[in-house]
Amino acid sequence: MSAPAHLRFAPSPNGRLHRGHAYSALLNAAIARQLGGRLSLRIEDIDPVRSRPELAAAIVADLAWLGVPWSGPVRRQSEHMADYAAARDGLAAAGLLYPCFCSRGEIRERAAARADAPRDPDGAPLYPGTCRGLDPAAARARVAAGAAHTWRIDMGRALRRAPGPHGYAAFDPGSAERRVGADPARWGDAVIARRDVPTSYHLAVVHDDAAQGITHVVRGQDLEAATDLHVLLQRLLGLPSPRYHHHGLIRDTDGGKLAKSRGSTALADLRAQGVAAAALRVSLGFPAA
Ligand code: GLU
Repeated sequence: MSAPAHLRFAPSPNGRLHRGHAYSALLNAAIARQLGGRLSLRIEDIDPVRSRPELAAAIVADLAWLGVPWSGPVRRQSEHMADYAAARDGLAAAGLLYPCFCSRGEIRERAAARADAPRDPDGAPLYPGTCRGLDPAAARARVAAGAAHTWRIDMGRALRRAPGPHGYAAFDPGSAERRVGADPARWGDAVIARRDVPTSYHLAVVHDDAAQGITHVVRGQDLEAATDLHVLLQRLLGLPSPRYHHHGLIRDTDGGKLAKSRGSTALADLRAQGVAAAALRVSLGFPAA
């Protein structure tokens, strides 16, 4: 017998939830119900500057209003930094990460100098590997002396350690699972742990999905390409891969992607305008109750 399905809704508390989040949360809840499983809430608050506790509280209130039933304790990533640090250190000790002392500005400038600089799936220039060749003892000494640094994956080595083909099980509610190929190399030497905290989104999400026993990940298509890197990290860390469903994104009325930064209408504003939760659910394609 396989484990009962366990899903998570994992917003970052750096803005108010909007209709796109509502869709994702409702879809998670619907699939959890359909699979006879449960849904957990995870607050992805690794960013010490942009994450705000009052926004995490607002997420809980918005989900209650929306009628999204989640169970169990809320997992807050900021409370698990020591675990992420241990995972980072394990990968570094295995020679799969290296410290990178380049600033964002330097990387941007170097990419700007080369019009054909290859880019990652998010459109950022691939890191040219400047710090990969540093003498390891010298790099360690700089880290020990407190020089600001990120930790990057050495993609070449990582792929030799965990050779492909890579892939994952993708599911669509109601139809058969299919295997989707993954190409982690398109992320290049991605940042696995940031300068300010011992993790990145990628490491924390992979760590937590395993720590929480998540069986099915339901999230937006904007994160589909990131899954290619996540499955590689799972292999390197010896963690199981959940099944994935990447749903279509809810668009703004002008066709743009909904984003807090674009000032897309927050659920709290809809509520203040007198929109009923049932009406919002129906407008997103879910039953009223
Ligand atoms: N925290 C991420 C976001 O708000 C979602 C992470 C995930 O579902 O994997 O976009």
